[in-house]
Amino acid sequence: MNKFNKSALQRPANYFKEQGLKLTGGGEWKNAVCPFHDDHQPSLRVRLDSGGFKCMACGAHGGDVLSFHMQRYGLGFIAAAKQLGVWRSV
Ligand SMILES: [Zn+2]
Repeated sequence: MNKFNKSALQRPANYFKEQGLKLTGGGEWKNAVCPFHDDHQPSLRVRLDSGGFKCMACGAHGGDVLSFHMQRYGLGFIAAAKQLGVWRSV
């Protein structure tokens, strides 16, 4: 049986840093230049607790880093989970 192991997901702060996002700003939502459109100012808001993200310019959004990974690389759920090391065959 295959299993999605959500608890093995990287912490959002680490993941977004690996993805090359420069996070700025205080508070719950950080700002970053959006990788989902040709952004020239930080239009993307991300949460470091949940990994949730939302772009104020292009509308890209999701609830966690898995969703971010799927959208950025055009992957399905399982392929993205495998790349992030959170899909286990048990
Ligand atoms: Zn965007």
